[in-house]
Amino acid sequence: MLKIAYSEIFRYHVPEKHRFPMKKYTMIPERLLAEGTITTENFFAPRALTEDEILSTHTAEYWHKLKTQTLSAKEARPIGFEMTPELVERGRHIAHATYQCALYAKQYGIAMNVAGGTHHSFADHGEGFCVFNDVCIASNLLLSRGEAQKILIVDLDVHQGNGNASIMADEPRVFVFSMHGAKNYPFRKPPSDLDIELPNDTGDADYLSVLKDTLPRLITEVAPDMIFYQSAVDVLATDKLGKLALTQAGCYERDRFVLSQAKDAGIPVAVVMGGGYSEDINDVVEAHCNTFRLAQALFFAG
Ligand SMILES: [Zn+2]
Repeated sequence: MLKIAYSEIFRYHVPEKHRFPMKKYTMIPERLLAEGTITTENFFAPRALTEDEILSTHTAEYWHKLKTQTLSAKEARPIGFEMTPELVERGRHIAHATYQCALYAKQYGIAMNVAGGTHHSFADHGEGFCVFNDVCIASNLLLSRGEAQKILIVDLDVHQGNGNASIMADEPRVFVFSMHGAKNYPFRKPPSDLDIELPNDTGDADYLSVLKDTLPRLITEVAPDMIFYQSAVDVLATDKLGKLALTQAGCYERDRFVLSQAKDAGIPVAVVMGGGYSEDINDVVEAHCNTFRLAQALFFAG
């Protein structure tokens, strides 16, 4: 069955006008339940990462400052959320959820996190709404525990995964593929194994053409035994931060292609959310829900 990581801790308190649409973390499961795509049986609750698990990826100094709430204002500000012990606990749960999704993906082909994709978190600092780097922590745990040998990160968030690129720079067992807007945050982009930069206003046809030329080749060349897919929806034309021009249909086809590629190759895929900042939160929720609908249809129908 489709295992979905969900916890009320995912929805963090933010001021009313904050640009991060925190409500999506409850709206997505509510919509999927209401329409019957999933039942509550699909959910599993993550736990908090242990300190050792955090230290698989993050520096002891950064973890100490998070634990003791002693990041300076200058260090905390780029994260973009109020720094509290709850935010740190939230991050520990999100990252554990992603790791557990990878284990469930080995069992069921796919598993999904209703959060995660915190790819702007570096070993020694956080930024861009990211405290811990969930996919890198999950990857390091899988590798160190012998649960995966070769990992492909398919990061289709409109923002480059600078944290992933930095953390995995010297890790040959993790291949980081990021396809993102050229003229967008982060403005300093450490190199991934493969970065594809797209011009502003790239639409469905060009986007999908590049993706369909690239991903099958990568799956063959990298030969991963685990895929992390960051299915962010800030590629939509309606996105306030994205600068690309995908339609809902284009975003749906993107997800269908990636999930089908993983399924057809028999490679487990763990899906994490990443960003989405459309003016109308329903555009964000609908595009994310499509990813879950596709997972059910492709992997579990009949
Ligand atoms: Zn993003």
